[in-house]
Amino acid sequence: MDAIEKIGFYHAFCSAVRAYKNGCIPIGCAILDAGGKVISQAENCQYSNLPNEIIKNHPLAHAEINAILKTSSYIHKNIASYTLFSTLEPCPLCFGAIVMGGIKNVKFAALDKNNEFEKLNDSLEFISKANINIKGPFDRYQIVQIALIVRRRLEKEFDNNKEVIEIYNNYCREGVQLGYYLRNDTHFHQLLSNKNNEKQILDYILSLNENY
Ligand SMILES: [Zn+2]
Repeated sequence: MDAIEKIGFYHAFCSAVRAYKNGCIPIGCAILDAGGKVISQAENCQYSNLPNEIIKNHPLAHAEINAILKTSSYIHKNIASYTLFSTLEPCPLCFGAIVMGGIKNVKFAALDKNNEFEKLNDSLEFISKANINIKGPFDRYQIVQIALIVRRRLEKEFDNNKEVIEIYNNYCREGVQLGYYLRNDTHFHQLLSNKNNEKQILDYILSLNENY
């Protein structure tokens, strides 16, 4: 992982942790320019009503959508050199926004075999012609992302939890196990109740991941 990838994923995961604290599925996104400067970032806010987000409290309020809406190829003339970092492989909705928004580089931490972004990339000529560079998953961060999602899903008791967690378990068993561990981890619960400590939470989960 290079220096810019570290910065991109750090900001994307801080947004994911904020989404968690705000009651959403923890997914985050950051868009960086070629020099590693953060141009925009956003968290999934499907169930939250954040004042600064463009789309919120809506099924389409995905992290990538809001991060892309805060950029514009009319203003950001070098947008083709930017990189979108997402904690989870973008879904078809966000994939379309990436193509239409003029973003050419995508890096994601965890695969989402419920959506299969790359399969979509290979199957539609319209999208494959856009020549988007895609890199992911990043193993250590994949475990953190799957753990956070599983932890949230266990709490929310969504109808499709069993099927979705089983799919994650097929390719990221460590992430699923870590998600179950976090459910009963009192230190994690204590950290969640504090404000402005996204980095601390991220570092804590990464440290568990090392020793788990
Ligand atoms: Zn999406």
